Amino acid sequence: MSNTWKPGTKAVHSGTRRSQYGEVSESIFLTQGFVYESAEHAEQRFIASGEDEFIYARYGNPTVKMFEERIAALEGAEDAFATASGMAAVSGALTSMLKAGDHVVSSRALFGSCLYVLEDILTRYGVEVTFVDGTDLAQWEAAIRSDTKAVFFESISNPTLEVIDIEAVAKLAHAKGALVLIDNVFATPVFSRAFEQGADVVIYSATKHIDGQGRALGGVILGSKEFIRKTVEPYMKHTGGSMSPFTAWIMLKGLETMGLRVRAQAASAMGIASALAGHSALEQVIYPGLDNHPQNELIQRQMGAGGTVLALDVKGGKEAAFKFLNALEIAIISNNLGDAKTIVTHPATTTHQRLPDAQKISLGITPGLVRMSVGLEDESDLIADIRQALDSIN
Ligand SMILES: *Cc1c(COP(=O)(O)O)cnc(C)c1O
Repeated sequence: MSNTWKPGTKAVHSGTRRSQYGEVSESIFLTQGFVYESAEHAEQRFIASGEDEFIYARYGNPTVKMFEERIAALEGAEDAFATASGMAAVSGALTSMLKAGDHVVSSRALFGSCLYVLEDILTRYGVEVTFVDGTDLAQWEAAIRSDTKAVFFESISNPTLEVIDIEAVAKLAHAKGALVLIDNVFATPVFSRAFEQGADVVIYSATKHIDGQGRALGGVILGSKEFIRKTVEPYMKHTGGSMSPFTAWIMLKGLETMGLRVRAQAASAMGIASALAGHSALEQVIYPGLDNHPQNELIQRQMGAGGTVLALDVKGGKEAAFKFLNALEIAIISNNLGDAKTIVTHPATTTHQRLPDAQKISLGITPGLVRMSVGLEDESDLIADIRQALDSIN
């Protein structure tokens, strides 16, 4: 029956396991281990554990299992493995499936830590990585070879919000037998149809929209039962990147309200982007939901909405951008996204500070660029706050 549930129902009920007490809210099993009834029983569990039999929290835990089953149901994946952070998910998914001599193709515009994993860590272990401009299908086609094991990209890039065509890249990758791994954070599980569109593995930093209230770090790797249980699980459970039960409980409760939150945030982001378009203090407003975004047609087809993040390129470079940030009264300066609170970030001096200037410019990270993750505040208050802060620049 639960297979036919709509996302809203799955987000509230899928994966629920009740103890003998019949609790309404999911239990937090804050236990590192589990007691066996006998020596024989312990031996049996280590040979093969059943669905509801656990050994050690690094291997699995009832609260974590509930979160894995709920997010898998929501995303339309066969299975999921929950991790300690989004980066444990990205690095775990890639490292668990790759070995020395393998070839990977990745888009160049990546979250800083993802870039570090691909550029510095994987290559240190003998994996060859080719970077492409993710929006240029000809570059993907030229780079993917018959010995390419995986392609990796963020479906919407951070912070410049370029949209990558999942269906088209997946077609190119599958023609050469490569797996498609997508970091889908900016798309969110609410707007994602990544598996339908050809993804083999979808990764989320649960820290972002899944928690959505800035409380905990977490991540999840979604894919086929075979990939999750035979490739990811052995790697994650032995290297230590599993999600804690308390975090899993936070994420479970986050999933219940995620659809409401993310849809409201995306609607406000659209409203703010529309209200600010053409403002005299701005070079441009970048938001995939706007008609003038070069990939508006693609984002409508792929997600049906522009997401919860926009970017403002402030005229006057770093000095003007800093004045703008410091003048905001509601939006806070931080570096999370997907939060209930509106958060502004200056990528050039924070999240992407490490990159050489030429690389920043080639990625569109100009000195005036401000990333804004739109929260749940009243949209008209946010617009008024942004307007007064832009006015204060001069
Ligand atoms: C935040 C983020 C990550 C890393 O997630 P953490 O939970 O902070 O480890 C990876 N990819 C993208 C696109 C992100 O925004």
